Amino acid sequence: MRSMRRRDFLIAAAGGLALAGCTSGQPTRTPAASAAGTTSTAAPVPPSQAAAPQPPQRTPGTPEEMLARATVPVLCYHQIRDFTPDDGPEARSLTCPPTLLERHLRALTEAGMQPVTSPQLVDHVQFGTPLPPRPVTISFDDASEGQFTNALPILQRLSMSATFFVMTVVLDKPKWLSRDQVRLLDRAGMTIGVHTWDHHPVTKYTGADWAIQLQQPKAELEQIVGHGLDLFAYPYGAWNAEALENVQEAGYRTAFQLSDKPLDPQRPLFTLRRLLISSSWDEQDLLARLQA
Ligand SMILES: [Zn+2]
Repeated sequence: MRSMRRRDFLIAAAGGLALAGCTSGQPTRTPAASAAGTTSTAAPVPPSQAAAPQPPQRTPGTPEEMLARATVPVLCYHQIRDFTPDDGPEARSLTCPPTLLERHLRALTEAGMQPVTSPQLVDHVQFGTPLPPRPVTISFDDASEGQFTNALPILQRLSMSATFFVMTVVLDKPKWLSRDQVRLLDRAGMTIGVHTWDHHPVTKYTGADWAIQLQQPKAELEQIVGHGLDLFAYPYGAWNAEALENVQEAGYRTAFQLSDKPLDPQRPLFTLRRLLISSSWDEQDLLARLQA
């Protein structure tokens, strides 16, 4: 069964070999505007008068409207690193060498596509908020270390933002993201999403699993980044009707599956589709898939 092989691969990788060199590439933060050296004669505005006006109330679309707007392609990458001799076919398929990732992402912009964040995408689907022409969203699943050490510098070089769906069981383990790296991704302007505790498919949950896999990882990641998080991605893209209800009840705004199944007509926001990227695709293959 494909999903079990995938899970075995994840667990074997989480079990870890020797710790590879880690966190050499700290992302640069945009420095806050400094007032040093400037003078102002304006009197400070009291906080009560400085409060920003409330944004206008937004009205969610009907399920039909949301279905019609859920057309932005969302790319789903996994491990970002060079292949090793130990990689079997499954690992190779889910592993994208950094040079290929950079070629893919450059090809998107050269083709006139404009990266938008997951929150922008969800605002568009839910409320009809306009997006730039030819939008595309980039995401990475599972929280492997190369997403920080290899993917983040490429994204920063290309001025792109992406979403990282993190499973929390692997954090601080060799070859996986550390909690500090998750925080630094957030601080670098990336979006952090939740990808369960241990990558167990949501279709198998009973009893306490819902809290362990949906609520606790959300709370842990929120504590790491210091603010609320409301995006979820289903392991293996698998979901059922019971899961949609539980994901919504756990406080998520949206959830992403994969593109092998249609959106749920009643809850499109909880079945947004993503394209699973294969490392066997070059940049022309990627663009052809996005056209299709
Ligand atoms: Zn995953």
